[in-house]
Amino acid sequence: MDADIAVIGVGSMGSFALCELASMGVNVIGFERYAPGHDRGAGHGESRIFRTAYGEGTDYVPFLQQARDLWKHLESMTGIDIYTETGGMMIGRPNDGFLEEVLMSAEAYNLPHQVLDAEEARGRFPQHRFDNEDIVFLDPLAGVLRPELAIQAASTLATEKGARLYCGCPITALEPHSAGVTIHCEGEKFHVGHVVISAGAWTSRLLPQLSLPVWVERQIMFWYPAGNPREFVPDRFPISIRITDGDAWYALPTLDGKTVKVALHTEGERVDPDTIDRAIHTKDSELLSQFAQKYIPDLDSEPEKGKVCMYTNTPDNDFVLGSVSGVPHVTLLGPMGGHGFKFAPIMGKLAAEVATGISPSLAIDLFSPDRLIGVK
Ligand SMILES: Cc1cc2nc3c(=O)[nH]c(=O)nc-3n(C[C@H](O)[C@H](O)[C@H](O)COP(=O)(O)OP(=O)(O)OC[C@H]3O[C@@H](n4cnc5c(N)ncnc54)[C@H](O)[C@@H]3O)c2cc1C
Repeated sequence: MDADIAVIGVGSMGSFALCELASMGVNVIGFERYAPGHDRGAGHGESRIFRTAYGEGTDYVPFLQQARDLWKHLESMTGIDIYTETGGMMIGRPNDGFLEEVLMSAEAYNLPHQVLDAEEARGRFPQHRFDNEDIVFLDPLAGVLRPELAIQAASTLATEKGARLYCGCPITALEPHSAGVTIHCEGEKFHVGHVVISAGAWTSRLLPQLSLPVWVERQIMFWYPAGNPREFVPDRFPISIRITDGDAWYALPTLDGKTVKVALHTEGERVDPDTIDRAIHTKDSELLSQFAQKYIPDLDSEPEKGKVCMYTNTPDNDFVLGSVSGVPHVTLLGPMGGHGFKFAPIMGKLAAEVATGISPSLAIDLFSPDRLIGVK
């Protein structure tokens, strides 16, 4: 046996699963086709939003509460600045479903929050324009995560705790059998007792027999120069998510002192992760530039740069975590859709618990892979 457990894909989720398993004293190997912190998957682009009142579902709040503690723990273990609490603004009409769920989750879990009308918001956040009908939900426990630094920090911590990490090692096939799993990596074979699959956009390739009903979308982040960048620093410009005429888009404070990251959160073009178009085209930013000009007018009308990334979606938009009926010795950790990064430390911890046969510290039924089997 080469290891008790292997983690396939050491990206956003896998780096945390590897770290947790190594911390538990498990003999664990991580296989990564590139290197931690690379820009070919879903865990890059300088920043990710963290928030606690959750428009995607009130059930996610306990995971977010634990994730927040674990992000702070990672910072204290490594001394690296990974999470900056800026507060967060969710902007839209009061009857918008996302905002209703945000408010419901805050009330259900007694989360600190405030709701402003447009007039109050104008006074407090002059960088933004608000429609008269807008409300602004303020989440003081929201902030900015640095994904590349986080993945590298968790991977380094994992190796310091005894994990072996093989980079530049694309796994081509997995063979689960009664005694464990055989892993194929470009002509080499490894034998392990169990695998955690955290391969993001490539997950389906590793378990083709399941025909998982998941798909990969091309998504693009843009950076717009600000006229007065000092108005957009983390302690003046909270993360914001805005629902405009059914479109969701978001903005994060400047981290380079010059540009503000803005992106649409919407249905993207369905792509193959190996052949995705990573070039940026003028049409990619047209709609976003219109929104940005109208609602954050100090930003330039054209972005300075853009970066392509991938969402890997499930039909119900919920995550995938757990074992799969009929596939022995496998824990699936992902796909995680377009909102998973903020959960990485708690998802890594829960995956490590499942893989080692420990009862998960939070109920994970919502994420059961079995719910997807047979879905078209
Ligand atoms: C533009 C954009 C913005 C986002 N914004 C937010 C946000 O603000 N907040 C938030 O919470 N979430 C956000 N998300 C979602 C979040 O980033 C993803 O849910 C999360 O990164 C997915 O993590 P993952 O580990 O599944 O995938 P990845 O981080 O891509 O990791 C998968 C890893 O597996 C490796 N791999 C794949 N196949 C193999 C193989 N065969 N052998 C070896 N290695 C393999 C890959 O190289 C990769 O490193 C955003 C996503 C995008 C694209």
